[in-house]
Amino acid sequence: MRSISIFGATGSVGQNTVSIIRNNPNAFDVHAVTGAKNIEKLAEIAIALKANIAITSEDLRLDDLSERLKGTGIAAASGRDALLSAAADPVDWAISAVVGFAGFEISLAIARNGGTLALANKESLVCGGTLLNETCRQSGTTLLPVDSEHSAIFQALNGEDIANVERIILTASGGPFLRMPLDEMAHVTPKQAADHPNWSMGLRISIDSASMFNKAMEIIETKELFDIAEHKIEVVIHPQSTIHSMVGFNDGSIMAHMGPADLRFAIGYALFYPDRLDVGIDRLDFTKLSRLDFMATDTKRFPAISIAHDVMRLGGLAGTVFNAAKEQCLDLFLERKIGFLEMSRLVNKTVQSIDNLGNSDADTLNKISKADTWSRQNVLNLVEMSNK
Ligand code: NDP
Ligand code: MG
Repeated sequence: MRSISIFGATGSVGQNTVSIIRNNPNAFDVHAVTGAKNIEKLAEIAIALKANIAITSEDLRLDDLSERLKGTGIAAASGRDALLSAAADPVDWAISAVVGFAGFEISLAIARNGGTLALANKESLVCGGTLLNETCRQSGTTLLPVDSEHSAIFQALNGEDIANVERIILTASGGPFLRMPLDEMAHVTPKQAADHPNWSMGLRISIDSASMFNKAMEIIETKELFDIAEHKIEVVIHPQSTIHSMVGFNDGSIMAHMGPADLRFAIGYALFYPDRLDVGIDRLDFTKLSRLDFMATDTKRFPAISIAHDVMRLGGLAGTVFNAAKEQCLDLFLERKIGFLEMSRLVNKTVQSIDNLGNSDADTLNKISKADTWSRQNVLNLVEMSNK
């Protein structure tokens, strides 16, 4: 039996992970499961998986959690330190599926253990790819991507020499506003933005998909994960999301990963790697696929893609600054304090003013945390100035 922990168990990725584990009850010994606000779900998961410990990041919800776990023998804990301490507990396999920068330190703690880090929290690579990769290298931790595009690329690269890779082609659905004119995009609501046409995901990543900030994050994630030159990474809009991404080699061959839009592909692959197991995904019926469409990205309506390339050119702490500005802007958009298009304008302005922070290597947690705080404040200052 393999020992495992699930960070962010109550979220969209977390619950999909839980469902696969519940279908394979004899394969895993579950150590920690964590959540934040959804205590009812966290307790239900902890009991169903017979976990050793359930942790909420929110101290005020500990009583509720303890009450629900009374008599089960499952320990309850709360707060950031408890989360980080559980992430430091060595297990064979742990998934980092907390949303946002809050997941970075958790990923780092898991990476020190020498087991397998299944990484859904792409923010970890965007903010601190160098530090995370180096931590994995030193401890011997295996890093496996749990993002559909990156799992697809990882699988296409299996047994290949990265030196023979000519291009990596990330597919993007284009989100709910793919064909919406720019002037209409200015007025969309969070509810409209959260309505993803193909994938069922958490609120924040769904809205990031509508603005294509998610794809921008994934471009940087690709560079960090596969150590590939920036100019070799391409994005193509593919509204059906049947091809999850592709790798092009120096002989002109393209390897594509295909299937229904179901994240259990990537989770299952990381969970059973290097083996494969059926996790109940629908099979593709090619006779029912009427067409596969592809088109170029429109960077006028989706400037996030251009910003990602600037971030990679700037290097150092630019990834942290970019992610933090994007997270801050998303909060402001959700609170209806800024419009949809304001997000990319503010993120761009913040990234372009990185000299005010003083860019340097993103090689310590301290530097990364300071850059994160600076960037969020910079966005708030810009909004305050424009409201004057
Ligand atoms: P969700 O919002 O659905 O879930 C987030 C999880 O993190 C929940 O368990 C939530 O707890 C917990 N959480 C929230 N805030 C904190 C905090 N401050 N400290 C600790 N835990 C916290 O997100 P997703 O599952 O959609 O995404 C998770 C990560 O995976 C993100 O980085 C996302 O970009 C990435 N990802 C997601 C994909 C998807 O299909 N959803 C695909 C590829 C990558 P609670 O719910 O109890 O409040
Ligand atoms: Mg993805």
